[in-house]
Amino acid sequence: MKIVQTVEALKALIRQAKREGKTVGFVPTMGYLHEGHLTLMRQAKAEQDVVVASIFVNPLQFGPTEDFAVYPRDLERDSLLAESAGVDLLFTPPVEEMYPSGHASMLTSVEVSEITTGLCGASRPGHFRGVTTVVNKLFNIVEPDRAYFGQKDAQQVAVIKQMVKDLNMNVTVVAVPIVRETDGLALSSRNVFLSQTERQAALVLSRSLRLANEMLAGGCRQAGELRKAIAEMIEKEPLAHIDYIAITDAETLKEAEVITKPVLVALAVRIGKTRLIDNMVWEG
Ligand code: AMP
Repeated sequence: MKIVQTVEALKALIRQAKREGKTVGFVPTMGYLHEGHLTLMRQAKAEQDVVVASIFVNPLQFGPTEDFAVYPRDLERDSLLAESAGVDLLFTPPVEEMYPSGHASMLTSVEVSEITTGLCGASRPGHFRGVTTVVNKLFNIVEPDRAYFGQKDAQQVAVIKQMVKDLNMNVTVVAVPIVRETDGLALSSRNVFLSQTERQAALVLSRSLRLANEMLAGGCRQAGELRKAIAEMIEKEPLAHIDYIAITDAETLKEAEVITKPVLVALAVRIGKTRLIDNMVWEG
């Protein structure tokens, strides 16, 4: 595995791979890798000749009061893990490499409307513009055939797919199912912030999604009823504070009332100071 820090060096290596007729898979991450990231990388390796992964904590997608400064970072450990998962080129640009004049001075951005306004977009203004802008930059640098994203960030997947479709980008977006701990907690780099008691409390996210799944399997078709049952379960957990409970059409992310089509049940919950997200799709 080669570790590359500059755009120019990465482009040269990718040009060479493409000249050799190789396909390129790409896994963008913010690092502090866990089994969720590694699953994306392994799938990319199984499907493509060359796997590029990026580790970049993107300042553009963090709000002023969010956790950019304290977001966990460990490049040494990440390099070993990425290599073990089959990554060929690990792109770890410093912020100045991605934003030479500073991210606040970027004059160009890419923004997907409508589907970015609800769910995480409502509580994190500007977040998705930061995501689509950096993913656009990364796609232009890597020119991947396939790019792999986790269903853990369901809205992100929908937003990236929309961007790729609307802008005729030459990349196939692959969504990979959520990887969980054995007790149900969705893997996240932010889980490291949780104390032991918070870690226990955090199980309320997956538990309430299981409840929603059972209610849907049992015939419940009223989004309001589902939302109420989920809220009641989360509110019983003293360390948990609901950011949102969204029950939406799985494709359009428009709020559902009566459930007739595949539905996304998505949660954002603060456990102490840590904001966690989780979701499930009910296929019907
Ligand atoms: P992040 O480093 O949090 O930006 O995540 C990088 C990629 O890994 C994104 O596409 C995430 O959706 C994906 N990812 C993060 N956690 C998980 C998980 N538990 N299961 C599957 N994919 C994940």
